[in-house]
Amino acid sequence: MTSLTPNSAKHKQARALKPGAIRPAKELCSECGLCDTYYIHYVKEACAFLNQQVAKLEQQAHGRSRNLDNPDDCYFGVNQKMTAARKIKPIEGAQWTGIVSTIAIEMLNSGKVEGVVCVQNTKEDRFAPMPIIARTPEEILAARVNKPTLSPNLSVLEQVEKSGMKRLLVIGVGCQIQALRTVEQQLGLEKLYVLGTPCVDNVTRAGLQKFLETTSHSPETVVHYEFMQDFRVHFKHEDGSIEKVPFFGLNTKELKDVFAPSCMSCFDYVNSLADLVVGYMGAPFGWQWVVVRNNKGLEMLDMVQNQLETQPVTSKGDRKQAVQQSIPAYDQGVTLPMWAAKMMGVVIEKIGPKGLEYARFSIDSHFTRNYLYVKRNHPEKLEAHVPDYAKRIVEQYKLPDS
Ligand SMILES: Cc1cc2nc3c(=O)[nH]c(=O)nc-3n(C[C@H](O)[C@H](O)[C@H](O)COP(=O)(O)OP(=O)(O)OC[C@H]3O[C@@H](n4cnc5c(N)ncnc54)[C@H](O)[C@@H]3O)c2cc1C
Repeated sequence: MTSLTPNSAKHKQARALKPGAIRPAKELCSECGLCDTYYIHYVKEACAFLNQQVAKLEQQAHGRSRNLDNPDDCYFGVNQKMTAARKIKPIEGAQWTGIVSTIAIEMLNSGKVEGVVCVQNTKEDRFAPMPIIARTPEEILAARVNKPTLSPNLSVLEQVEKSGMKRLLVIGVGCQIQALRTVEQQLGLEKLYVLGTPCVDNVTRAGLQKFLETTSHSPETVVHYEFMQDFRVHFKHEDGSIEKVPFFGLNTKELKDVFAPSCMSCFDYVNSLADLVVGYMGAPFGWQWVVVRNNKGLEMLDMVQNQLETQPVTSKGDRKQAVQQSIPAYDQGVTLPMWAAKMMGVVIEKIGPKGLEYARFSIDSHFTRNYLYVKRNHPEKLEAHVPDYAKRIVEQYKLPDS
């Protein structure tokens, strides 16, 4: 069952928007790429920021929507299995150990799919996204590592239909995958696999520049960065050195406008609609967090099982007080002096939430912040746009009245 029935003649008459044109979701557009194709025809239903329909699409993709009375379901979405994993031989230059790229390569090599939608960077700019349909392992490998910018991954969907491809793997983040799930039936595919990553606090290319310049001592040499489970941002530089900046030392006032409005309004951190999700936040430091949502997800994970070491997910600590304290601190743009931020980082790393509790900490902090953002900037959208699971999560905290 899908939300839209095939209607290809009509959508093919639709015209993609020209670059720079105002998008239907206006400032909330996450540039997922759908409007760069004739599938713009479906944007009113498909766009995650025009039509929140996570529960309905969970039912379609996984056979059920999440059970709000089951705490793991409520936080992490429909799941058959969660595990911590890392590649025995990590892929050099991958964001973590390269589980995502490895699965994609195995799916292609085994013939389960004919192409993989993923995102390389442009020749000129290591962080500028360039979505492609990869048809060789080399093209998949060239797409490894995060492009920490809004990326129009779905802009290649027209090419999928035109190529006559029947079996496809799409790699993407939550907003891209929600739109993909809505138009899935229109693509002329026999089989679609969806490999997702969690995603939060994404930025435009200009926003990324501001973030790097405000936060790193050498913005021009950063090759990748991650907000880590040790409460620090880790910047990796060209020479292999790692620079660590404590979260609590970030220049919150300067950075308040950096994150894209779409990401400030997003409640699909955990990529609810992918078959398989590979992130890091529910795993011990150095490990990746793998969430299998359905049988296709299990099939993908099985393809690489012999290349992984795994351990059960664990959970330690209590996030609630830290989340509650961070709400007014973020709201008022409090920035600690660096010595105090470093000290706080060390203490929190020792006694703070770990494993799944760290993931809950991150989800709670972002959902409360985003709830306030939508309430203040788009009050007319609040009720319909915030999914029920996110309302449950936000209700645990006391928020400022206005
Ligand atoms: C913008 C962003 C934010 C993230 N935030 C979190 C987080 O807060 N918590 C968490 O647990 N995990 C997060 N992740 C996921 C995590 O950083 C790793 O991407 C994931 O663990 C996979 O690592 P890997 O080494 O297996 O990936 P690799 O083998 O290095 O492959 C990375 C894949 O990501 C795809 N990709 C890169 N950039 C984008 C993009 N902008 N949009 C869509 N696809 C992209 C590429 O096509 C590539 O196939 C985020 C990912 C992205 C892209």
